[in-house]
Amino acid sequence: MHTATSPARTSATSGARRHGTPAASDPNLASIARKVANGRRLSIEDGAALYATPDTWSVCALADLVRRRMHGDIAYYNVNRHLNYSNVCALSCTFCSFYRKAGQDGAYEHSIDQIREEAAAAAAAGATEIHIVGGLHPHLPFDYYTEMLRAITAVAPRLHIKAFTAVEIVHFARISKRGRDKYEGLKAVLRDLVAAGLGSLPGGGAEVFDDRVHDRAFKGKIRAGTWLDVHRAAHELGLNTNATMLYGHIESRAERIRHMDILRRQQDRTLGEWARDSGIGLQSGDAVVLTGPPELYPGPRLPEAGRCRRGFFQAIIPLPFIPDDSSLQHLPGPTGLENLRTIAVARLMLDNFPHVKAFWIMQTLELAQFMLLNGADDIDGTVVWYDITKVGTTSTHQETTAWDLQRAIREAGLRPVERDTLYRPIDRDGNTWRVSTPAECPAQLRHP
Ligand code: SF4
Repeated sequence: MHTATSPARTSATSGARRHGTPAASDPNLASIARKVANGRRLSIEDGAALYATPDTWSVCALADLVRRRMHGDIAYYNVNRHLNYSNVCALSCTFCSFYRKAGQDGAYEHSIDQIREEAAAAAAAGATEIHIVGGLHPHLPFDYYTEMLRAITAVAPRLHIKAFTAVEIVHFARISKRGRDKYEGLKAVLRDLVAAGLGSLPGGGAEVFDDRVHDRAFKGKIRAGTWLDVHRAAHELGLNTNATMLYGHIESRAERIRHMDILRRQQDRTLGEWARDSGIGLQSGDAVVLTGPPELYPGPRLPEAGRCRRGFFQAIIPLPFIPDDSSLQHLPGPTGLENLRTIAVARLMLDNFPHVKAFWIMQTLELAQFMLLNGADDIDGTVVWYDITKVGTTSTHQETTAWDLQRAIREAGLRPVERDTLYRPIDRDGNTWRVSTPAECPAQLRHP
């Protein structure tokens, strides 16, 4: 059973300095603290030092400083529904307890009618987003996926559809037999999905960008370059996406740092032109840093235009490995403190990602709440059904209420703000809602 260190225990041992630039007890953190104070990019070696130091609390305090620069006292949540349309998968990743083979006990796939009903129920309950992922089904045709999106759009036109990991997109390119140019094939698939109603991509399937880890833990799945190509193609089409990192299994901390560095270099390229146009966060070389002190940002720190249809990574979502029922269940999985430190390191290293999400389903709500004080600014949403992992429960009914999420945020001394998928604030009256401050976008960049 995966267990997380309880926030009550961890906070009791905290001597953390929560505000201002923290004075670290470990001299190895001094130069890192100076870089953070000045808004300079941290190196790979800095990332290693953040993991190696015994002074966890200074790492957390530095991450909190950055998080407050970016978001002040705001913490985000959303009202959403997850839909896992099928657990049938052609692959057998060792860390995965979700997949089943076709015909195996427990294998399922939802019909389009079922999906339509679930979307209608989500919209009626006031959800702003439906988050859809599934296995790589060996028999369902590409039409099933476009039909699924059209059915949802028809019955719930305001529901933002965030769907399909990069791994699924590559699977769709294969089954729809797109042309020889792989990159253009990915784009063609994405165009078809957008035309059917796709609004953005989640960040799953990234795992850890390392060939050693890939070949031992998820051989058969796409490699880093292909995952990054899918997201680059999505960004070029104006879709916002997220990125994940599944950690705490067979990878090393150094491999996690390299994963973060690969992501931030791709984000540099994505934001580069935009940064040059607007002057946001541009540093020497090609680095674009959004997390520095306010004086570095004469205009908006966050890419406000990102709320327009521009296409970039919105959030990094570190996901702790949950060993239960997987082929790697002999491994212990990460501890609560390792989870906390990884959120903080992600906040510090991924200086061009606007948001860091503590996904409460996998972190537990108790620890996700604590993470809001250690680098995270988002705890995801009300979820309801989530089949991929089950922490401390045997049911896939994993629901919390907006009130629970607000309470967790307020208790952390922060201000809860409901967001939509694109991080636009929501005004809500019961199940009725509207985007409260639509971004000013040129007409051609407006989200539908
Ligand atoms: S992680 Fe995804 S691709 Fe791998 S076995 Fe599980 S469902 Fe299939």
